[in-house]
Amino acid sequence: MKTVDVNIEEKLFQNRYRVDIGRPHVLIKNVGVCTNDCADKSCTFVCPASCYRKENNGSVTLITDGCLECGSCRILCTEHHNLEWAYPRGGHGILFKFG
Ligand code: SF4
Repeated sequence: MKTVDVNIEEKLFQNRYRVDIGRPHVLIKNVGVCTNDCADKSCTFVCPASCYRKENNGSVTLITDGCLECGSCRILCTEHHNLEWAYPRGGHGILFKFG
């Protein structure tokens, strides 16, 4: 059986994402908690879709476009309970059927 090497970026490119404009399904409740109380900011390097970014001033920004709905950030943030997390509304979010 022949195998084909495919890297993560190529696999992610197979997906499609329908943005629910103005209604992100994951929200940071209090940006100040991320900036001041969260030392490791692990969401910024664990999220497989790179939705979180650590800014130069120590804050964390979140753009949910491309979110894989894996739930990793939800689990990581249990110490601070600083995320509102829900699945996208029907017809929005990640479409895996191309992968
Ligand atoms: Fe990233 Fe997964 Fe959280 Fe979506 S659910 S923002 S892919 S860690």
